[in-house]
Amino acid sequence: MKSKNFLLFGNEAIARGAYEAGIRLATSYPGTPASEIMNYLVKKKSDDFYAEWSSNEKIALEICFGASTMNQRSMCSMKGNGFNLCVDSLMSVTKKGIKGGLVVAVIDDPDARYSDVVQDTRQFMETIGFPILEPNNVQECLDLTKKAFDMSEEKGVPVFIRTTNKIGHLYSPIEINERKSSRKPEFDKTPYKFNPYSKEKEEIIPYFCSGCPHEAFYKNLRLPQDFTVNGDIGCYEMAGFGNNTKDDKPIREIINTLFVMGSGINVSQGQLICGQKSIALCGDSTFWHCGINGLINAAYNKHDIILIIMDNSCVAMTGQHPVPKISIEDTCKNLGCHVEIVNPYMKNRVQSAIAEAIKNKNRINVIISRAPCMLKKKRELNKI
Ligand code: SF4
Repeated sequence: MKSKNFLLFGNEAIARGAYEAGIRLATSYPGTPASEIMNYLVKKKSDDFYAEWSSNEKIALEICFGASTMNQRSMCSMKGNGFNLCVDSLMSVTKKGIKGGLVVAVIDDPDARYSDVVQDTRQFMETIGFPILEPNNVQECLDLTKKAFDMSEEKGVPVFIRTTNKIGHLYSPIEINERKSSRKPEFDKTPYKFNPYSKEKEEIIPYFCSGCPHEAFYKNLRLPQDFTVNGDIGCYEMAGFGNNTKDDKPIREIINTLFVMGSGINVSQGQLICGQKSIALCGDSTFWHCGINGLINAAYNKHDIILIIMDNSCVAMTGQHPVPKISIEDTCKNLGCHVEIVNPYMKNRVQSAIAEAIKNKNRINVIISRAPCMLKKKRELNKI
């Protein structure tokens, strides 16, 4: 199908360009003057295309990271203010490499007509360092968005489409074309491809303290080969660092992707949408920091993920700092999740909880692996 003189707004033309480029996934959080992009895309949902309003822009972006690890094209759209929430994630993805093309479309509001601040998002974008394409008319909104996906895959980084409400809300006849067919989802298991923290070439690689509950959990973890593991930031991330000794290699290569605080839950959602089985890991402090937002999104958008919360009752990595004394299990249950609490040192308990979670696919399964940080415990005992 090719059609000339097709009337679209600039924002709709960005959406159309992404759709024609064969995206598998689109995410957004509502924000004027960008919302028309997702308004267009949610109407196009089909067997090979999924679109959602996520619960914030960072989650929306990290779900696209998950799709990208599966070699699928995706687009995340937002207004300038929303972009600010994504800077941490974007700074981290610079080191990772993008597989399936990822486009971040941002509509600025230079007169603060719909916003509380005047912001030129190009300044943040330039600091992050990814290519920026700026359409100047409605046809360019479509054409440059399509081009941005090829560019993203060529360069292995996300590409920004940036325009303003002046173009985004302009209405004009343009030429549209057919949608490119989607490709087969496939996770790239190249070691450390999505983990910039790999320290496999260093001589001294950090490892768990003797008796660490996280190490015990990993030793007892058995997962089918076709699962991916999406990690997060905390002591437990050492299961993704790689190694040069034979004995601890299986543990050091458990984690496949590692981005920023709270991202593992969202990467798992993106992979699940693309048909990939996975587990997400996060710590108790990461859960309260921003991981909980990802779980809210999973509950809201019905992504039945498996989440392991590695609860050692402190922020161990920084020196055993405190965490909120709020019940993680009650919070997860209130979100409608199925919750199991396991002692990480008990092999049978860990393995049966994982097996049950894998079997019960039609619910969000949260497994809390709970035991105190061994280093903290020893320090407390020494004080007595
Ligand atoms: S500080 Fe605590 S949680 Fe971290 S590796 Fe050591 S024992 Fe494990």
